[in-house]
Amino acid sequence: MRLKGYVLNNGSNVEVHIDKNPDEFIAKLKEHLSPLARIDSVEREEVEEKFGAFEIRHSSNGRRVSLIPSDTAICDKCLSDLNSAGNRRYLFPFTNCTECGARFTVIKDVPYDRSRTSMEEFQMCGDCQSEYSDQYDRRFHAQTISCQKCGPKYRLYDKAGSAIRTPEPFEDFAGKIESGAVGLLKGWGGMHVVSTFESASKLRSVYRRGEKPYAVMMRDIESAKKLAVISPAEEKLMTSPQRPIVLVNKRAEHAPMLDRVSPGLMNIGIMLPYSGAHHLLFHHLTVDGVVMTSANQPGEPMVTENLKAFDLNLDCYLLHDRRIVNRCDDSVLRMNGENIAFIRKSRGFVPAPLPLNHKRSVISVGAQWDVTGAVSRNGELFLTQYIGETDKYQTLQYLETAIRHLRDLLGVEKVDAVGLDKHPKYSTRIVAKSLAAFFNAELVETQHYHAHAASLMIDKGLSEPGVFITWDGTGYGDDRTSWGGETLIADFGQYRRIGSFRTIPLLGGDRAAIDIRRLVAAIKLLLNREVTEFPEADVEVFSKMLPKSPVTSSMGRVLDALSCILDVCNKRSYEGEPAIKLERLLATGRPVFKFNVAGEIVDGVRTIDTMNMFKQLFEKQWQGEKGRANIARSFVEALCNEAAGNACEVAKAEGLKYVGFCGGVSYNGVITDILRKRVEAEKLAFFVHDRIPNGDGGISAGQNAIAGAKVAGKD
Ligand SMILES: [Zn+2]
Ligand SMILES: [Zn+2]
Repeated sequence: MRLKGYVLNNGSNVEVHIDKNPDEFIAKLKEHLSPLARIDSVEREEVEEKFGAFEIRHSSNGRRVSLIPSDTAICDKCLSDLNSAGNRRYLFPFTNCTECGARFTVIKDVPYDRSRTSMEEFQMCGDCQSEYSDQYDRRFHAQTISCQKCGPKYRLYDKAGSAIRTPEPFEDFAGKIESGAVGLLKGWGGMHVVSTFESASKLRSVYRRGEKPYAVMMRDIESAKKLAVISPAEEKLMTSPQRPIVLVNKRAEHAPMLDRVSPGLMNIGIMLPYSGAHHLLFHHLTVDGVVMTSANQPGEPMVTENLKAFDLNLDCYLLHDRRIVNRCDDSVLRMNGENIAFIRKSRGFVPAPLPLNHKRSVISVGAQWDVTGAVSRNGELFLTQYIGETDKYQTLQYLETAIRHLRDLLGVEKVDAVGLDKHPKYSTRIVAKSLAAFFNAELVETQHYHAHAASLMIDKGLSEPGVFITWDGTGYGDDRTSWGGETLIADFGQYRRIGSFRTIPLLGGDRAAIDIRRLVAAIKLLLNREVTEFPEADVEVFSKMLPKSPVTSSMGRVLDALSCILDVCNKRSYEGEPAIKLERLLATGRPVFKFNVAGEIVDGVRTIDTMNMFKQLFEKQWQGEKGRANIARSFVEALCNEAAGNACEVAKAEGLKYVGFCGGVSYNGVITDILRKRVEAEKLAFFVHDRIPNGDGGISAGQNAIAGAKVAGKD
C-alpha cells in the first residue's frame, strides 16, 4: 500500500503506525491474515508523527495483555520444503515458519522473540539470517528459524546411552523400531515412547502400565481411516493445526489386532504427525502407524531432559540438543454427540484464554488427579498445560512451576485469591498455600462438585443458576464422606445438594477403588447374599470391616461395581478403567429389562437406592454377550432416567432453565445421551462441556470462577 511508518510488538500487542488510509489498511490486514493470527480487537488513535520509510522496529516491553502463542503443526509449505530434494531444508526435522512450529513449549518469556526462546543458543547462519530479515520471505521474523547448518541436531543413542555414529539417525531409528525395538523420540515439548503395534505387548511389559491404552500416530488421515471409523467432525479435529489425539471407534476387522494397543476398549486414540521429526520418521518407516505414548516414569511428569530419558531403560533413544522450556503433553479429546470432550487439554490448545465471570487475578490449583492449574487476568481465564496426578513431589513441583510461568507470561503482579479443593489430604493444597503466602493472597476453599458446576458455567458462558448432575469417581463431601453422584443447584456464589445415591461402603478405603471386587463384596454383604469373589476367611474379615468402612455416593463406583458384576473388568489398572470398558456394552445393549428405581428424600436430598437396584440385578437372568449388554444398558438407563427426572422436577419447581452434566462420568457418550434425551423431553436446556475438560482437569477453572466471585463480591 506504499505506506510510511512502522510496526512493532508492544508487549503482547501489535502496534502499527501508518501515514494514511487506515480503513483500507485494516480491511486488507483482516483479509490477508495468516491462518494462526487472530485479531481480538483494534484500537485506533490519531497521532502527530513524522514518517520516514516503512520499518519494523524492535519489540518493546509494554503491557502484556493478549495471547501467548500455542504450538502448531508443521504447515503444508514447510512440509513441502522438508520433502523436496534440493531444498535447503530437505529432511530437516526442525523446519518451520512464521505460521507453524513450536511456540509455547520453547518460550521463556514474552514478547515472543528468538532471544526469549530455547532457540537463543543456536546462532543463525547467513542464509537463515537473510530469510529472517527479508520481509517478502515466508520466514521473515520467524523466531525459531533454523536449518541443517545452524539448527538443533538429532543424535541416536543405544540402550546404554552411548551415542551411535550414523549419518542417518532417523533412518536407523526407524529400522530399529520396525525390527521390534521400543525407542524414545524427543519432540518439541516432550518425549514419546515409540513401538510398532506388534511390539505393543513388549512395550507394556517394559513400561509397566497395566491395561492402560496407548495412543497411536498414523502416517496420514487415509491410513487412520483404515483402522477406525472417523466422522467428518473427528477428521476436522484430527487434521487441525492443534493435532490432538482423537478417540475414535475401531473398525471391527482391526479390533483384535488393536486390542494390544487399547485392550478391551471400543475406541482408540489416533493422532497425525505434527512435527518435522514425525514426518521424517514416517519417511523412513514402511508401516503406516506406530504406538506413540508420553515418556514418563509411572506417576511422574513427562521426561524433558536428555539424561533423565535413559532411566526409562528402552532399546534406543533419538534425542536432539534443544532444551524443552515448557513440557506439554499431547491433547486428548473425543466427540460426544455434537460436543467436544477434552480428556486432556494441553499441546496446541494452551494457553488460549476463555471469558470469565470476574476480573480479579486469581490462581487455582485443581484437585488431585488430572490436575491443571489456572490463572485469571482481567476477565480472562488461562489454564496451564496438563500436569497429571499430584501424588509425587515432582508433579507438585511441576504444577507450581507451570502456574508461576503462566503468571509471568501474563504479567499478573498482584494476586487477589488462590482457589483450592476442600479435601484436607489433597497435595495440591500445599502448592495453593505456598502461592497464597508468596502473593499475600486470600485462600478460598471450594467444594469439588461446586467447582465442577462452575467450570461448566464458564465453559458455556452461563451466569444464571442451574441444576448440575456432577458425577465422577470421588470428591470431598460436606459430610466428610466421598461424594461423586451428586446433583446440585449452583451458581458461582453458592450451591445446594438436591440429589445423590445411597452410599456403598469402601472395604479397605481407597483399596476398594482399585480392587473393585471389594465393592461387590460390600454390596452383597449388605444384601445378605453369598460373596463368591473372595475366599471365606476374607469374607469374614470383610463383614467385620463393613460397619466401620468409609462410604461413597460415587457414580463412578456404581459403574465399577456393575462392570465387575457383569465380568467386564474386576481390577482397575488405570483411573476409570472399569467404567470405560463398560461403555462398549452400554453402546450395544438395549433397555429390555425393567428396574424398579426406588428412592427417598433424606434431609432434602433425593437419594436413589442403588442397593435396591443391585438386588434386582442379582435376581435377573440373562444369556450371552447380547444379554449382558442388555442388562448393563437397562441398569444404567433406569438409573440415569431417574436422576435426570429428579433434576428436571427440581429445576422446574425452582424456576431454573437448564440442567448441566459434568464430572468424569460425562465423558461417557451413552450416559450423556440418555441424560440429554430425558432432560430435553422436559423442555429444559441441557449442557455438557466443550472447551474445558469434563473431568478433574476442569476443576481449576471452577475454583477460579468461585474464588473470583467471592473476592469480587467484597468490593
Ligand atoms: Zn510453516
Ligand atoms: Zn541456517
